[in-house]
Amino acid sequence: MLDIDTLRIAQVSVGACVFVLVYLGTYRTTRAPYAAWWSGAVLASGVGSLLYLPLDTWGVAAAAIGNAVSVFGAGLVWGAARALRNRATTLWHLFPVPLVIFAYSMAESRQDETLPGTFALLLGMCAFIALSARELWQILQTRHLRKGADAFHSARAAVLSMAVASTAAASFYGLRIVSYALAGPQSDFYLAWTGPKMTTLVVLLLLVVVTYSVTELSHFELSRQWRERANHDDLTGLLTRKAFTELAEAALSEAATSARPLVLVAADFDHFKQLNDMYGHAEGDRALHAFGEACRGVLREDDLACRMGGEEFDLLLVGTAIEDAESVCQRLNAAYVSAYSDAPENAPTVSYGVTIADPSKPWGALVARADAALYRAKELGRDRIVVDA
Ligand code: GH3
Ligand code: MG
Ligand code: MG
Repeated sequence: MLDIDTLRIAQVSVGACVFVLVYLGTYRTTRAPYAAWWSGAVLASGVGSLLYLPLDTWGVAAAAIGNAVSVFGAGLVWGAARALRNRATTLWHLFPVPLVIFAYSMAESRQDETLPGTFALLLGMCAFIALSARELWQILQTRHLRKGADAFHSARAAVLSMAVASTAAASFYGLRIVSYALAGPQSDFYLAWTGPKMTTLVVLLLLVVVTYSVTELSHFELSRQWRERANHDDLTGLLTRKAFTELAEAALSEAATSARPLVLVAADFDHFKQLNDMYGHAEGDRALHAFGEACRGVLREDDLACRMGGEEFDLLLVGTAIEDAESVCQRLNAAYVSAYSDAPENAPTVSYGVTIADPSKPWGALVARADAALYRAKELGRDRIVVDA
């Protein structure tokens, strides 16, 4: 069997390597906050282990600092888990627990303990790792991860493996606490199953699982941001035509079984060219932006809105009856006017063509019907809502 010092040296070497890879490789390229927290945790865990090594020459102070640094590292793991849930953690708030553990370890060293403060160390480690596990299980309850959309598959697997690993580690520390308290630190059971050697092994395994997952999630987040950018129009923030069509076609085939009504609205600015010609292209852009704001304010989470191109928009209202669609367009108009309250005189109005989806017909047929209704609104004098009969 390997002796404890060899295992600790292995842990420190692996930790140093992981720190360099996560900090320089993952954090510096993705800027994911949890990668920074995790690299800090790895560093602290390595420094903590290093401090236990020279016990004979340094005496107990090193072990007391080692305890504090190790628990601080566990606190950083908790910070990483919170960062994954977009929750901020103030670094200074993590200091009190390690300081108490340091003071406790120093006090206990007077009673001539070989490894003073171990019990406090175990309590601190167990608490922070259990809190991390709790955060991770909560992430798995979020909508996207629960629904298991394909794009989120790798993210779900990464969070799940961290949740399982941290739950196992927290349980291991729980077992250490129990065997330390009941059997004692010199007992065969404690030394064989929950002593420093086994702990080093558990920490090494946690290091591998979390590092893989943090790296995977950081790159997933980066690619998600790029996907978001590619799917959204820069000026209005609404979906692009391609992204909208994909989502709308999926909604249409879902509607075939769910009996949820779908309404398609085609919207087009009236005499938009005049606004550009009179006040410049930038003014036209402001009007388009205001319409995007209005869509975000009025439409529901399941609804879809896209800029088809130029000053034309398509909106898919999910679960809205055709009778209610007109009032949605009116509210949209009101929101547009208020978002564009500093508009110049004769700000352009918007015409709407509204139609209910027939899930048995292809998507293209639905678009054609909404466009026909819009065309009629234009013919009838613009600034109005025409509902397809
Ligand atoms: P109608 O009432 O018949 O729809 O007339 P219209 O002037 O709104 O329609 P038309 O198709 O003649 O003109 C659309 C104008 O929209 C022309 C184009 O320069 C302008 N446009 C397209 N994209 C943008 C954009 O991104 N920003 C701005 N400011 N204008 C744009
Ligand atoms: Mg127009
Ligand atoms: Mg147009």
